[in-house]
Parts: sequence; structure tokens; C-alpha cells
Amino acid sequence: MERKVITRRALGAVLVVGAAVAFSVGVIVFPMWTSAIDRARRQQSAEPFRIVGNLYYVGGSDVTSFLLTGPEGHVLIDGGYAATASVTIASIATLGFDIKDVKVLLNSEPLFDHAGGLSALQEASGGELWASEASAETLAAGGDNRDLFLPMRAFIWAGINRYPAPRIDHRFKDGARIRLGPIELTAHITGGHSPGCTSWSFPVRDGDRELQVVRVCTLTRLPGTSLVEPQRYPGIRADFERTFRVLRSLPVDIFLTGHAREFGRYRKFLERDTAKNPVDPFIDREGYLRYIDNAEDTFRQELAEQQQSFWRRFR
Ligand SMILES: [Zn+2]
Repeated sequence: MERKVITRRALGAVLVVGAAVAFSVGVIVFPMWTSAIDRARRQQSAEPFRIVGNLYYVGGSDVTSFLLTGPEGHVLIDGGYAATASVTIASIATLGFDIKDVKVLLNSEPLFDHAGGLSALQEASGGELWASEASAETLAAGGDNRDLFLPMRAFIWAGINRYPAPRIDHRFKDGARIRLGPIELTAHITGGHSPGCTSWSFPVRDGDRELQVVRVCTLTRLPGTSLVEPQRYPGIRADFERTFRVLRSLPVDIFLTGHAREFGRYRKFLERDTAKNPVDPFIDREGYLRYIDNAEDTFRQELAEQQQSFWRRFR
């Protein structure tokens, strides 16, 4: 009898340990492995090119960076992964510009795939970084943020998703205008993905026409973030609702996103070969509105699912 109990206990312990190992492999190791592969793939360089006027693509094959050039210096939007910085520096040189002329660094969101390279870009350029008030602390902490979903924080603590912290030179609020010579960008705080998620709008010239550009901040919900019981991000629902409204109200001819595929960078890049004006493939208000619609559909669906499982608990 005694022996049977011990055996059963031992078997139980083995099962618990086995389950823990399987759980860590499934939940920690496997995503680490896939995200490492993912990142290696996303850090590949991409051919830099002029999108329109003084606006250039200088990002990687997936994560994006944009350069706005001007007579009094250039503006660089986003830094990609830590390892993408060298791609961006090389792209700027390929286009015939000098990284040292980058005077202003901007960011869309403080996650490692868009802010990871900022510190290196800041060092190489000597430029000043502008951070939204709600992103500044996370940027200054190299991506760490106590409101992040715990497994994501664990990756940061493990050094996987942590990035070299850039220096914050200026903080801004919603509606701020950042100027550098004739360049002027407007900051739209479009929260949801993160509270300080910033979309940047600015005009560009193409011959004698002026076109309106927006670099939209990411519109997805971060893994582990609740829309129903948002202790980690109170106000997330209202932020998303407001973001969709604000983005739809902007006069947009050309839209750009944090990941190249979302705005069809490569497809539009190829279409330039047969276009009458190489700018034309990028003029895509329809694609912009579709992008917002899709994001909003996903948001509504996730919200409905979370609400359902929330109420199921009380049945
Ligand atoms: Zn991203």
C-alpha cells in the first residue's frame, strides 16, 4: 500500500516535471526560436529608393524606416531592430546622403522592432530623438515597460527583446509639429497597440502637386493585452476607437506602415517600372482605408471574443 502511494507520488512528480518541460518548450523555447528566425529574415536589407519628392525608403526587407531630406538636415522615422540600423545607415549612403545630416529622429512605437536601432542611429547621426510622452519611458528603458504582458517582459529581461536605449532629447504631445527647415510633420497619438503609438503626417511635393503622406502606427493589439479588463492598459478600447476615427479623418494620398508588406512596399516598388509616374503606385487612399477597415474588423472581433469569454465566467 505504502509503496503504491510512493510510486503514485513519484509518477505524479514525473508528470508535473514533464508537463513543465513541455510547457517551457511550447511557450518559451519554441516562440524564442521562431522569433529568432523571424528576426533574421526581417533584418535583410532592401533596396533603398525614392518614394516621392524628398521621401525615401531606407528600411529593411520587413521593418521600415523613412528618410525625409531637406536643406537644413534630414528627418528619419523609425530605427527598426537593433541590427537593422546598419542596413539603414548603408541605405542612406547608397542614396547619396550623409547620416550626419540626420538632425531629427522620430519613432512610431517603442517596441524592439521599430525602436531597436534608434540608439545606433542616434550615435551615427548625432540627431535628436523626439519621443511621445507615453513612449518616452519605455524607449529610455530599452523597451521594458511594467505594463507589458509578462511573457513579453520575460523576453526583455532575458535580453532577447531588449534594445540599446536611445537618449530622449524632446518629448511631445498629440498634435505636435516637428519642423526642420521646410520639413514639417504632425504627430498624431494613435494609441491602442501602445499608449504612445504615433502616426506621422506630412506633405511632400511631386512636381507641382502636393501629396499628403501618413506613416501609420501599428493597429494590432499586443499579445496578452485585454480589451475587457485592461488593468495593464486602462483606456485601450477608447484609444483604439479614437485611433480609427482619427486616421480616417486624415487627408491621405500615400500611406506607410511599420512593416513593409502592410503597405505593399515591394509590389508598389515593382509597379513603378510600368507606371507613367513612378509615384503613382504609392498613391493609394483606397488601400489606406482598407488597411484601417481590416484593423478595425480584427479589433471588433477580438473585443467580441474577449467579452464572450469574460461573461462566460459568470454563468
Ligand atoms: Zn512591428
